[in-house]
Amino acid sequence: MTEAVIGLGSNLDNPEQQVLQALKELDGIPGIRILKTSSLYSSVPVGPQDQPDFVNAVALVKTELEPEPLLNALQDLENRHRRVRLRHWGPRTLDLDVLFFGKRIIDTPRLRVPHPEFRNRVFTVIPLLEIMPDFLMPPENTPLRDLTGLLPERDLRALTIIRESSRFPFSSAGKPDLH
Ligand code: ATP
Ligand code: CA
Ligand code: CA
Repeated sequence: MTEAVIGLGSNLDNPEQQVLQALKELDGIPGIRILKTSSLYSSVPVGPQDQPDFVNAVALVKTELEPEPLLNALQDLENRHRRVRLRHWGPRTLDLDVLFFGKRIIDTPRLRVPHPEFRNRVFTVIPLLEIMPDFLMPPENTPLRDLTGLLPERDLRALTIIRESSRFPFSSAGKPDLH
């Protein structure tokens, strides 16, 4: 069993619902259980600016899967949300990234963990800080909270909570309690 952090993002076709639905589905994947989820945040796009704002969240999960099978499961879920890859960093119905996989460092053609952009992005750092304020980041056990002063001021100002995480975590019956 490994604790992993998954980043979720959407900016097409009712993004808030895409993310909430994806959290529910993530928890339903065999070998993946959600332990904690952040609030939903609105953020400005990375890369091309001529696209809608994103809805972002992060989830702490417990998984029996190895990293590559976990990535496969996430990509299947993206495909079920009819994600179409048009251009790099373009609009998408659902983006699921492995931000951390325990303390492991992974560098393969398909998977780089910790996610190389994690620490530069307000929409990954701030939601994770919300659920894991004492998190120490591999490889050097840098405190997550030390990153906040380094984040782009403009992006920080633009990041807002659009839905509190009060409906989470999931109920003890193991059923997601999203509605
Ligand atoms: P970014 O990675 O900068 O957030 P993106 O999410 O838009 O960009 P995608 O088009 O979703 O990029 O993914 C491109 C490829 O990145 C995927 O096919 C996957 O193999 C690879 N990849 C590498 N590391 C990771 C990771 N940690 N999580 C998810 N995908 C990853
Ligand atoms: Ca991404
Ligand atoms: Ca991705």
